Amino acid sequence: MNNLEQYESIVGREVITRVKEKAAPLKGKHIVCINSTFSGGGVAEMLNSAVFLFNTLGLKFGWRILQGFPSFFDVTKKLHHAMQGEKIDLSDHAKEIYYETNERFSVFTHLKHDLVVIHDPQPLPLIDFYAKKQPWIFRCHVDMSEPDPDTWDYLKQYVAKYDEFVVSREEYKQDVAIPQQIIFPAIDPLTRKNKELTDDKVKTYLQKFNISLDKPIITQVSRYDKWKDPQGVVEIFKMVREKIDCQLVLLGSFAADDPEGQETFEEMEKCIADCGYEDDVTLLTVSDDILVNCLQRAAAVVIQKSIREGFGLTVAEALYKGTPVVASRVGGIPLQITDGESGYLHEPRDLASFAESTTKLIKDESLRHTLGEQGKQQVTEKFLITRYLEDWLDLFNRHLSASNK
Ligand code: UDP
Repeated sequence: MNNLEQYESIVGREVITRVKEKAAPLKGKHIVCINSTFSGGGVAEMLNSAVFLFNTLGLKFGWRILQGFPSFFDVTKKLHHAMQGEKIDLSDHAKEIYYETNERFSVFTHLKHDLVVIHDPQPLPLIDFYAKKQPWIFRCHVDMSEPDPDTWDYLKQYVAKYDEFVVSREEYKQDVAIPQQIIFPAIDPLTRKNKELTDDKVKTYLQKFNISLDKPIITQVSRYDKWKDPQGVVEIFKMVREKIDCQLVLLGSFAADDPEGQETFEEMEKCIADCGYEDDVTLLTVSDDILVNCLQRAAAVVIQKSIREGFGLTVAEALYKGTPVVASRVGGIPLQITDGESGYLHEPRDLASFAESTTKLIKDESLRHTLGEQGKQQVTEKFLITRYLEDWLDLFNRHLSASNK
């Protein structure tokens, strides 16, 4: 398990000292966070690092996973779509499933903590089932630039009961009368997914999955989810492949709280079988952090073809490894990529421009290197876990010093 000292060589002594100073007043404070999956997706990824580090810093930081039946996750997936802008019709029955699942979970989840952090809409209504004796923070990770108005009106009644609403960018703030704050997500440079690997290790590890480095690799690493538009990636690959001999690797794991992953994966199998370059496409579903690491390092270009994207940790992960990213100008992605300097940004529908930038990068190693260096520097400055810890510690200090008075 990592401790903060191990990050000194990456972020410097000053940052380590500052994080420790911010953690000092919170020593022994009992904080809990609740989300709905232990693995798969960016929220679990961040909690897996942050929860452990908070404990090494002296906080008593717990983590609970909301349990629900598949019908519950069908409802919350719909809510997720609606928060990202899709018009949905939420029946009274669906609302009942949503609310009652939270109520059941509350019965056996005893919260006597000094502070509670709720992640994303799945456990949002939990706040109704406790005599609220501590600050409650709602952290929403999805792209809320244009939520479905009716769904937002419905969810807002719960959000309004919280003490703070934390989002990933200014444009996601909403019309709710509680303080709202931005905390950028972040990656952990020391996890198996992001740590340094030698070229040899990358090569031999990829061979295990029948991926050779003989042809330049284009990859997208993302859950099989319509908002990540994997079919769009295949369309772009076809355009690039007509010009250059290259290969596409799509890697996507499934998240326990995402009931649509399997269906999207099966659509992808068909899409690839029909694409005309089937032999140059590898479609993977393994959940393997070293494989993610190797692919993001070995790729000539990482694509992130999202239609909506709360932040997109995969972008920061690739940039941190010095790999340029060609991505959609949506959600949290433009926070991470400066167009033309650390990657390229395009409108999601503009497949031709995606293909053009990808082709240009594959052909030009020195351009890849320049963009890669720039991307790594930007992520190191803004999107590493130490900065994330600092932001949360500031927030905890603010709420807990206020509630101590
Ligand atoms: N991820 C992974 N394996 C996969 C696909 C995704 O480990 O096959 C990880 C990815 O590396 C990143 C997270 O899942 O850490 C996805 O976070 P992101 O913010 O990009 O998207 P989300 O899934 O939360 O919408």
